Amino acid sequence: MKFQLWRNATVLLNIDTATFLIDPMLGPKASFGVFPWTNDTRPNPLIDLPFPRSELKKQISKIDAIVVTHLHPDHWDSDAISLLDKNLPVIGPSIIADSLAGYGFTNIQSVDRSVKVKGIDITLTHGRHGIGEIEEKMGVVHGFYFSSGSESIFFAGDTIWCDEVKSAISIHQPKYVVVAGGAATFAIGDPVTMTARQICKLCHTFPEVKVLVTHLEAVSPCTEDREFTGREIATAGISDRCIIPEDGEQLVLFSEPV
Ligand SMILES: [Zn+2]
Repeated sequence: MKFQLWRNATVLLNIDTATFLIDPMLGPKASFGVFPWTNDTRPNPLIDLPFPRSELKKQISKIDAIVVTHLHPDHWDSDAISLLDKNLPVIGPSIIADSLAGYGFTNIQSVDRSVKVKGIDITLTHGRHGIGEIEEKMGVVHGFYFSSGSESIFFAGDTIWCDEVKSAISIHQPKYVVVAGGAATFAIGDPVTMTARQICKLCHTFPEVKVLVTHLEAVSPCTEDREFTGREIATAGISDRCIIPEDGEQLVLFSEPV
């Protein structure tokens, strides 16, 4: 299994013979502007993709399916809509299926529980994009558990550490868990993605899983960067199983520890 972080939550995942592009935010730096409910006036994304547009076009020509956890612009942007092949399967929670179809995509794989795409079982999971008033504003979010039988990885999506994530890991027992870090914070309430401390808590609760931290240094609400997150992880003594990939970095993930 290969995992390449492009930027923020956008990941190219190769599992068995299938290639999935997850949560595509493909626009150049500053292409979608400022986030609501924040006083931060920096336009997003804060950085470009880690490769040129010519390489992007080459990369997206290889994908078998697109996976979208929710429709916030740092997971699904206008460049994704214009650049991606409208006939590719788009896997998304059923609550966003009509919206995805509305963008002109013709092969929507709406998921209530699970779907099988290119031989990979993809199961919907739940999460919480914050607590209280800010959670209501952020809306419903999901994640996906991918399993090929021999390989498995769980993308928790944009969620804080909560019972829904705990239960998804308990049920599916993935070898790898991908979490949205960065402690994204708006003008209202507490963080809407995981803090480094919550990531450490996840690792302590599930000592057998390896964790990959994404959603760092790419959008303005994120308040914790790679350096801070790495320090917290090191202090907690879990650097060996909690990985913070760089943008563009490709990791080869093994089914068994090597
Ligand atoms: Zn996000």
